[in-house]
Amino acid sequence: MTSVSLLPAVESVFGRIGSLFIDGAFSAGAGEALKIIDPATEDVIAALPEATGSQVDAAVASADAAFRDKRWSGLRPADRERILFRFAELVERDGEVLAQLETLNQGKSINIARMVDVGASVEYMRYIAGLATKITGLTLDMSIPIIPGGRYHAYTRAEPVGVVAAIAPWNFPMMIALWKVMPALAAGCTVVLKPSEFTPVTALVLAELAIEAGVPAGVFNVVVGRGTTTGTALVQNPAIAKVSFTGSTRTGKAIGHQALDRMARFSLELGGKNPALVLADADPAKIIPGLAAAAFLNSGQVCAALSRIYVERPAYDGLIEGLRQAVGSMTIGSGRDPSMQINPLVSAQHQNAVLLNIARAEQGGAHVFRGQTGPKQGFYVSPALVTGAAADAMIQREEVFGPVLSVTPVDDIEEAIRLANDSPYGLAASIWSNDLGRTMDLIPRIEAGTVYVNTHVPVDPNLPFGGYKQSGLGRDFGPDALAAYTETKSVCVAY
Ligand code: NAD
Repeated sequence: MTSVSLLPAVESVFGRIGSLFIDGAFSAGAGEALKIIDPATEDVIAALPEATGSQVDAAVASADAAFRDKRWSGLRPADRERILFRFAELVERDGEVLAQLETLNQGKSINIARMVDVGASVEYMRYIAGLATKITGLTLDMSIPIIPGGRYHAYTRAEPVGVVAAIAPWNFPMMIALWKVMPALAAGCTVVLKPSEFTPVTALVLAELAIEAGVPAGVFNVVVGRGTTTGTALVQNPAIAKVSFTGSTRTGKAIGHQALDRMARFSLELGGKNPALVLADADPAKIIPGLAAAAFLNSGQVCAALSRIYVERPAYDGLIEGLRQAVGSMTIGSGRDPSMQINPLVSAQHQNAVLLNIARAEQGGAHVFRGQTGPKQGFYVSPALVTGAAADAMIQREEVFGPVLSVTPVDDIEEAIRLANDSPYGLAASIWSNDLGRTMDLIPRIEAGTVYVNTHVPVDPNLPFGGYKQSGLGRDFGPDALAAYTETKSVCVAY
């Protein structure tokens, strides 16, 4: 299959974006120049000087002013909803440009970029836009015994929390940014978004589209820069009422501590080390495509990606044989070629970290089966299937976030449950079996925010998503998705 040729509209984006989008306009950062790199070629596609601390403060001041004068929260909910639906339409209209930008900047398959980064994002945007008109509270008549005859009516109001700092990772740059920006806007908040310094391009385009949709200037601002500089300045700005963060557990903890210091609200969607339990009755031929997709989608750079399989011994040999064939046959190359299943990782830094994890697993005595080798140029890592790793090996405990899957046989399901839960993480897990009774008994015993059965990875805007244990705090999605961006005010009226 031939590679997609970049649309002229993709090239033109680089001519107009700046590192900051404040009050409805781009401006240049005054900090260190960040190189934006195409992971498939290692070419520098743009240089964006990062936003300095004072520039971040200016972005927050813009969002704060927009919040205080109610230019957004003061609109009728139906108007906010209409504008956010229009925003979704514009992302859909420009979907091919956004997908190509995501492939160019992140390295991912153009198929994934079209279907997930754009397609799923648009559906998510529509779901959340509709919630803008469904913000409700509760009402009650109060009974206060010490004031005889007094009549009291009480109700609650869900009010926007204020200025939101949205901090996003690089694996699904635009989609995860929207997972924060959309509910914040639907709730009536204003936003300063900091995308990952590796993948800032689509976030900047989103801000432009929001203006075109009718979101007033100042309501949605973007600052580009590294976490330790731009990100820290954002989290520490006292006007930030809420930090909504998706990224690694290590960064999430640091941000949580800083936010807690001044009681800013925060929610964290963090890393995972997601297990699958394969029961003895499972048919390897049937489940291997699903397991392989769960582990290697987006080259393993998925927070919910499958990374450890525990399989009851009778099914082990068949499973390993099938997984070897699957991994061995995966094509590896540029994301712009839609036939390539494994694509470059996001950066040289991440490529090195993943390769180090694989090397350490081998040094620790595990056997590593490698798939096809990628092109020399580009941040490629061949897919890897690890067997024989000790339970306490790093490859079994630490998030790798690359195309690596380990498989361990177990004598019984008790051992599988113990090993699956023996992790500081608890984002997602799956059970693969046709034995409904056994499966249903296992579901409550798994420590994970999402448990899949005979599948692994799908998310839906209407299904809460988040982590147990060190995989996070709070939930995205679901009918209560706006709760993370509102305060509850109780009102008591005597009459
Ligand atoms: P990261 O923690 O390195 O960075 C995430 C974001 O935080 C980036 O924008 C970064 O610049 C910023 N940042 C870093 N240090 C900061 C600081 N001190 N203050 C403020 N901001 C700071 O994560 P990453 O490498 O970009 O993303 C990969 C990680 O994200 C993986 O651990 C993955 O599991 C996780 N993730 C989780 C989910 C989820 O929904 N649970 C989804 C996607 C990714």
